Amino acid sequence: MTAIGFIMGVVLVKTQSRVVAGLMLAWLVLGSIRLSRIRCPQCRTQVGEQGRVSGIPVLGAFPRRHCSRCGADLARPGP
Ligand SMILES: [Zn+2]
Repeated sequence: MTAIGFIMGVVLVKTQSRVVAGLMLAWLVLGSIRLSRIRCPQCRTQVGEQGRVSGIPVLGAFPRRHCSRCGADLARPGP
């Protein structure tokens, strides 16, 4: 019985960690998609852009407070 309980526990933990990992991945992907639609009112740079690595924009799942290109205040609502 103990062995079965242990196996069930392992399966439960593995299943939950997979679900949590999936939810986190979905959250990151959805956040990136949502943020990719919001752009800087000054220069149209995506607010999720965290910077550039050899010219390729690196997007994050969270918005920047200031534009990575022109430094505009993104916390302020646009026009
Ligand atoms: Zn900008």
